[in-house]
Amino acid sequence: MNAAAPVRVISPEPDDRIFVTQPHMAPLDEFIPYLEKIWESKVLTNRGPFHRQLEDALCEYLGVEHLALFANGTLALVTALQALRITGEVITTPYSFVATAHSLLWNGIKPVFVDIDPDTLNLDPHKIEAAITPQTTAIMPVHCYGHPCDVEAIRRIADNYNLKVIYDAAHAFGVQTDSGSVLQHGDLSALSFHATKVFNTFEGGAIICPDAKTKQRIDHLKNFGYVDEVTVVAPGINAKMSEINAAFGLLQLKHVDEAIAKRKRIDAMYRGQLRDVKGIRCLEDAGETVANCAYFPILVESDYPMSRDALFELLRSHDIVARRYFYPLISDFPMYRGLPSASRDNLPVATDAALKVLCLPIYPALSDEQVERIAGIVARGRS
Ligand SMILES: *Cc1c(COP(=O)(O)O)cnc(C)c1O
Repeated sequence: MNAAAPVRVISPEPDDRIFVTQPHMAPLDEFIPYLEKIWESKVLTNRGPFHRQLEDALCEYLGVEHLALFANGTLALVTALQALRITGEVITTPYSFVATAHSLLWNGIKPVFVDIDPDTLNLDPHKIEAAITPQTTAIMPVHCYGHPCDVEAIRRIADNYNLKVIYDAAHAFGVQTDSGSVLQHGDLSALSFHATKVFNTFEGGAIICPDAKTKQRIDHLKNFGYVDEVTVVAPGINAKMSEINAAFGLLQLKHVDEAIAKRKRIDAMYRGQLRDVKGIRCLEDAGETVANCAYFPILVESDYPMSRDALFELLRSHDIVARRYFYPLISDFPMYRGLPSASRDNLPVATDAALKVLCLPIYPALSDEQVERIAGIVARGRS
């Protein structure tokens, strides 16, 4: 055999498994004109025209005043902490994607885990005060699954103890409460536009800023700290969103309402079909929330005929790939579990939720028939 011959890869069968999510993508032909513009102008990054347009369009869509785009949500979190010069200890939730706490470690900050509320699975404000020490400088809550945190209670505690609040709003794209966008709360909020999120730019993210001055500082930080050709004001990083991602975001934004509407329909179908299933609990939305239906978490309680993991495997045997978001807890990963606040005794509600939760598939392309099939398997609780 000729050694230089390319290795022949046996092409896999088309993957007809149903995953927990599937990116919603605008039609390719609609994207071509954007690409042509980029090729014509040769502006690929560094606050090009699409980047500016997407910042404006997102401010309008989300109902916020100032927003800085990022290469991804994790760099947005890392930079948000830099922008507010957060040090020492930060109170956060163990029940999240690992990037929440990683953003603290990347800043040399010690995470202090506080337990969650059993109904919303968000940071429990009643347990925050007991975790505050002289080293505490901020709180980093997560609007888990897009359910708004108790923003008023968190603000009162932050005001009393002179703490900053940075929301990990990676799940909260477009979420509204009766007082407007959930993204207006806290000193800063960070969004993710990763492929798995409700609104995606392949990779991407943003920081919601309260004023133009803060946005300017953040814009400097995401571009190495450059202010102009010869002035560097901070040890910034490269966290800029490229023109190709920004252009795709502009196109995606045109289709996002339709995508969220389809998610809502799936959410309602699951709720209808699972309402009376013994041992299955669906999370409820708090108050007047306009939800984005980013996830469909269920809690598999002890009176369900099988364990959460058995249901997970049962769905897999039907080519349905549900996900245990969030299991394991962040506080159980090796770089966190030695912290005093990571002990399971300190986090009973989160520990319990992590053992019960299963996120069912939800994405715009999921058909009614597929939703019914998934809900049917969950309702039967056997193969
Ligand atoms: C997705 C996600 C992130 C990270 O965002 P990336 O854009 O993937 O870097 C952070 N926090 C939470 C809660 C997330 O779900």
